Amino acid sequence: MTKYDYDLITIGAGSGGVRASRLAGSYGAKVAVIEEVREGGTCVLRGCVPKKLLVYGSHYPEEVEDAAGYGWKTGRIDHDWTRLIETKNKELDRLHGIYVNLLENAGVRRYHGRGTVVDPHTVAVGDKCLTADRILIAVGGWPTMPDVPGINHAITSNEALDLRERPDRIVVVGSGYIAVEFAGIFRGYGSEVDLVFRADKVLRGFDEDVRKVLSAEMAKKGINIVANTLPERIEKSEAGVHAYLKNGEVIEANQIMYATGRAPNTKGLGLAEVGVELTANGSVKVNRWSQSSVPSIYALGDVTDRINLTPVAIAEGRCFSETLYNDNPLSPDHDDVPSAVFSQPPVGTVGLAEHEAREKYGAIDVYVAEFRPMKYTLTENPERGMQKLIVDQVSQRVVGAHMVGVDAAEIIQGIGIAIKMKATKADFDATIGVHPTAAEEFVTMRDKRPGPQKARVAD
Ligand code: NDP
Repeated sequence: MTKYDYDLITIGAGSGGVRASRLAGSYGAKVAVIEEVREGGTCVLRGCVPKKLLVYGSHYPEEVEDAAGYGWKTGRIDHDWTRLIETKNKELDRLHGIYVNLLENAGVRRYHGRGTVVDPHTVAVGDKCLTADRILIAVGGWPTMPDVPGINHAITSNEALDLRERPDRIVVVGSGYIAVEFAGIFRGYGSEVDLVFRADKVLRGFDEDVRKVLSAEMAKKGINIVANTLPERIEKSEAGVHAYLKNGEVIEANQIMYATGRAPNTKGLGLAEVGVELTANGSVKVNRWSQSSVPSIYALGDVTDRINLTPVAIAEGRCFSETLYNDNPLSPDHDDVPSAVFSQPPVGTVGLAEHEAREKYGAIDVYVAEFRPMKYTLTENPERGMQKLIVDQVSQRVVGAHMVGVDAAEIIQGIGIAIKMKATKADFDATIGVHPTAAEEFVTMRDKRPGPQKARVAD
C-alpha cells in the first residue's frame, strides 16, 4: 500500500500528459489527471486539429478556380462561416470524447480545475489536496503578445479559431508557424490579409530558400507581406481596428491577430516555490528523463520548451511512462524531428537548414530543384515549389531536406525516415522515383548548386 493517494498525478491533459498518464495507468499505476479546461489540450482543441481543418476548407476556392483548366464549368461559390465553425466544433467535441475515453479505459481518475503544486508530493485542485509519489507537469503553453498600446484590441490564434464572422480584412502580426498558417487560412476563405512582421522574410530560423520561396508564394496568393516593421499602436475603429505601423503605414482591418510566440504555462503553478528550476521564459528545466530539479516532479511537452510539437510531447510521454512504470528506460530523441508548416503552399522540413549544416559540417553539398506542380500545368495557378537536400561532403550523409509545395507535409515524413537512418546521397540516388510525382525530385537531384553556395532560389 503506497503512502500517497496516487502513484502519479499529471497536471494538464494535452497530448503529452494524456499519453503519459494512460500508459502509466495501463501498466498498473494509480493515476490522476487534473485539467483546467477540457481534455485534449492545445493540439486537439486550439491548435493542430482545428487549424488543419480550417486549412483544408480554405483550399476550395482555389481548387474551384483550378478546375476551370480541366474543363469544369463552375459558377460562383458561397461560403457559410457559421457552418464551418459549427462542424469544426462538433469534431472537436468528438475528439474530446475520445480523449476522455482513453483516460477512463486506462483507469485514470479525472479532476477538473486548476492544479497547483503545494509540495514535492502534493497537488491542490479546488478545495482538495491530493498526494502522489510523482507529479508530472504537462501544462503546455499559451500565446504571448508584446506590450503595445492598444494590444487589448488584438486576438490570438485561440480566438481566431472561433470567430463568429470571417473578417473581410485581418492583420496578422508575426511570421512564425502560426502567423503564416493563419494568414493562408484567412486568405483562402477570401479575407484581405496583411502579414506584418519584423524580419525581412517569413519563418526566421528555417532554411533561407524555404523562407524566400514561401514569402514569394504567399505574396502571389495575394497576402500583403509587410516586412521589417511592426504595429507601434493599435486603436479601435468603426470597422474594428487601426494598426499604426512603425513604417508610417496605417491599416484599418476588422481584426488584428498576434502570433508572436507562446510561453510555458507555469505562472502561478507553485513550481519555483517548491524548488523546481525554471528558465528565464518560465519553462521547466528537465534532464533527459524529463525529471526536474525536484526528483519527484517531472515535466514534458511545451512546458519544457524543448521542441514544441505534439508528436514530440507524445514521444516524451511514452518515454516517461516506459521508464518509470514499465521498467523499460527510454529517453526521448530530439534529433532530426521532421515537421511541417501548413502554410499555402505548405512546408516540410527535416534535419539541418543550410546555415546550420554549414556551421556544423563546414563543407556541404547543396542540391536544389524548383518546380511547377504538375497539377497546375493546365491551370492559371502560378504556384511553384522548391525541394532542397543538404549533404555533408565528408560522409555524404543527407543532413537536411526541405520542401515548399503541394503535399510537402506528407512527403517529408518518408524522407524523415531516410534521414533518421542516416541515408547517404548515394542511397537517395539509388532509389527509383515514383512517377509522375513531386516527391520523385528528392531522388533525382543530381546537380550540386555551384559555390559560393548562397541561397539563390527565387532571386
Ligand atoms: P514562432 O516562435 O514560430 O514565431 C513567433 C513569431 O513572432 C516570429 O515571427 C517572431 O519574430 C515574432 N515575435 C516574437 N516576439 C515578438 C515581439 N515581441 N514583437 C513582434 N514579433 C515578435 O511562434 P508561433 O507562435 O508561431 O508558434 C509557437 C510554436 O508552436 C512554434 O514554434 C511551433 O513549435 C509550434 N507550432 C507548430 C505548428 C506545426 O507544427 N505546424 C503549428 C503551430 C505552432 P522573429 O522571427 O523576428 O523572432
